[in-house]
Amino acid sequence: MNQPVQPKINVRGIRKQFGDLIVLRHIDLDVMAGEVVALIGPSGSGKSTLLRCLNLLTIPDNGELRIGEDSFVFGKGSRLPGAKVQASFRSRTGMVFQHFNLFPHMTVLQNVMEGPLTVKGMSKTKAQELANQLLAKVGLAEKAQEYPDFLSGGQKQRVAIARALAMEPSVMLFDEATSALDPELVAEVLQVMRDLAREGMTMIIVTHEIAFAREVASKVIFMRDGVIVEQGPALQVIDQPAEEATRSFLSHFH
Ligand code: ADP
Ligand code: MG
Repeated sequence: MNQPVQPKINVRGIRKQFGDLIVLRHIDLDVMAGEVVALIGPSGSGKSTLLRCLNLLTIPDNGELRIGEDSFVFGKGSRLPGAKVQASFRSRTGMVFQHFNLFPHMTVLQNVMEGPLTVKGMSKTKAQELANQLLAKVGLAEKAQEYPDFLSGGQKQRVAIARALAMEPSVMLFDEATSALDPELVAEVLQVMRDLAREGMTMIIVTHEIAFAREVASKVIFMRDGVIVEQGPALQVIDQPAEEATRSFLSHFH
């Protein structure tokens, strides 16, 4: 018997305002398990805020969010779970930022072990084994004992990805993970992201790498002024956008 396929992520009516500025107006979004969604749009359109709402780094004013088994209702009359539940949820939605935010006083290995040790209560032996495995996966096994300051930007970002993966996230969120990198270091990070996508990781990627989005994403979402203007299959949105605003935005990349 066919099971109805339920999306892994449901977002309904998410709204966020900072002071007088409405940053997210009414965001609805479904992401299926294993789907790779690219979120594109001009600076200030609300992409980072949306990503942050998805892992509760920012709390929406209104709306509903469900990722897997966890669901949250925001707004009047609804109560958010406590800090501990939020932190645990956050760790299961791995976030990779433009700036790597590694702990400078810890080795690469310790950086990757830290979450499993402190948040998951994993044993040191197991955390070390997992960290070594993940560093090998991102091609940095030989840097395990190095300190972040001695790594290139591309290597740092790969450590940051390994660190997020160490929490065994059900979803990976990337916020312009390659925007701060020297051009020659972008490819090695995109390759790690591409590998993750091929392994079936559910991913939402904010990126200005339009060619990468076209290649790797199954769905592309174009945002402007806190609204999803257009969304659809990557090839459709990028090669044949329906909206003038999308066309105009994409024209800057040719
Ligand atoms: P994007 O990632 O698409 O560039 P952001 O989500 O970072 O957009 O920002 C959308 C808008 O919200 C911008 O105008 C930004 O200045 C504003 N904004 C973001 N975070 C905050 C905040 N914590 N306080 C006030 N304004 C914010
Ligand atoms: Mg941003």
